[in-house]
Amino acid sequence: QHSLQWQAWHDPLTRINNRGALFERAKALAKRCEQQKQPYSVLQMDLDHFKSVNDRFGHQAGDKVLTHAAGLITRTIREHDVAGRVGGEEFCVVLPDTGPVQAMVIAQRIRERINRREILVKKSQTTRVSVSIGVSSAQESGNYDFEQLQSIADARLYEAKQRGRNQVVGQDEKK
Ligand code: C2E
Ligand code: C2E
Repeated sequence: QHSLQWQAWHDPLTRINNRGALFERAKALAKRCEQQKQPYSVLQMDLDHFKSVNDRFGHQAGDKVLTHAAGLITRTIREHDVAGRVGGEEFCVVLPDTGPVQAMVIAQRIRERINRREILVKKSQTTRVSVSIGVSSAQESGNYDFEQLQSIADARLYEAKQRGRNQVVGQDEKK
């Protein structure tokens, strides 16, 4: 069994950082990057059509998809990068010392990996999911505030959904 400390900081289903832990770690990381004048980037992501997975295969299948996605995200980023589950099917990744160009590379890698794999959701039933991602970076505008960067990334995530999902939107493609 996990300690109470562990439970306070992790999402019980996916075992990655919960919303509160992600915020705390992101804010500490933002402060450090600002002091050292290093960039950092935020990836805000949401699984596409997640509700239809639940509707077609049931909630247990939905849970499997979430666990699978969280594991894949974690294995696709570096140890010092921070990933968290910040909503139902929403994840956030914070990348220290990473500028907007590198952040786009990493976001595309995550998107491709999630889209490539078939997920076994029930006995001999598989499904495939995709993810939409919005990317923002500190130093784009000298702004290091995590909550502001997250809300910019969120708006770009919305844009990615509008454009048909399964894609990444960053600073260059705002309009
Ligand atoms: P790349 O995959 O094209 O990545 C380009 C740059 O993006 C990297 O330069 C790094 O600054 C940043 N980057 C890429 N992925 C991540 C990530 O998951 N987290 C963070 N924080 N930054 C990331 P860098 O470090 O000079 O690496 C140059 C190349 O070396 C990479 O090009 C890749 O081909 C290879 N490489 C470095 N580390 C790894 C690794 O752990 N696994 C794999 N498969 N390749 C690696
Ligand atoms: P790690 O640094 O914690 O990275 C975990 C995973 O994130 C990597 O698994 C890879 O899938 C992804 N990743 C991280 N950085 C990059 C990158 O720059 N480019 C790409 N394409 N993917 C990246 P992987 O490849 O199985 O590597 C496992 C561990 O092996 C890494 O853990 C790191 O400790 C080490 N490693 C692998 N390749 C390199 C490398 O080129 N340079 C260095 N310094 N370490 C490497």
